[in-house]
Amino acid sequence: MAKFSDIVGQKSIKAHLTHALLNNSISHAYIFEGEEGCGKMLMAQAFSQTLLCEKQAEDACGSCHSCIQAEHETHPDIIFVRREEDPNNKDKRRKTLGVQAVREQLVDDVIVKPYQSAFKVYIVTEAEKMTPEAQNAILKTLEEPPSYAVILLLVTRADALLPTIRSRCVTLSFSPLTEGEIESYLTNQRGISPSRARLEARFARGNLGQAIRKAEDENAQTQKKRMLDLIEKASVEGTHAILT
Ligand SMILES: [Zn+2]
Repeated sequence: MAKFSDIVGQKSIKAHLTHALLNNSISHAYIFEGEEGCGKMLMAQAFSQTLLCEKQAEDACGSCHSCIQAEHETHPDIIFVRREEDPNNKDKRRKTLGVQAVREQLVDDVIVKPYQSAFKVYIVTEAEKMTPEAQNAILKTLEEPPSYAVILLLVTRADALLPTIRSRCVTLSFSPLTEGEIESYLTNQRGISPSRARLEARFARGNLGQAIRKAEDENAQTQKKRMLDLIEKASVEGTHAILT
């Protein structure tokens, strides 16, 4: 999972959420709206981890029992709501998030009190893929949420959700990251070389997730090539050649 301090950019959203945490003014439902790779999932994870952290501060401590469970994605009170497996292809998920999945993973589950925390957080990934029936099922929960429930709907576009859902949620719109934000994250947090980081930041168009994948792929390719070169050299010249 994550801490707020790990998140690149999105200052106003971080400020909004930490203010709500410190003032006990958490809403029952949020829409996190933004392009893929802008950090919606990381923000959802940081928010839920901080909300359930035993230290109750403006950021997750990262070391209490709750934080460790959150970081391993084994926290019983942080539930990820996802599309089900495609019955015809186990490696894929269904195209939509259907009413049955939403009922099983959220609507019926939310009635059960939190296992160990004051809150129970549901992170609905790709919420725009909910069918109209699934959205209507969730709407009933949003109309009368249990006091401990916090529902985070992650979407690329909020208008993919029914107006009745939107009116019951606080919508936070994520902005694409700047080239400078992406570049400094890649060099400082991921150990990517400055020249590669600059290049990937320029092509990423604000999509940090894509920039990380490409830069790390490139790093892995370079390391693989270096390893293959060494093996080749060893087979031709003997192992002493690569040890000197
Ligand atoms: Zn903690």
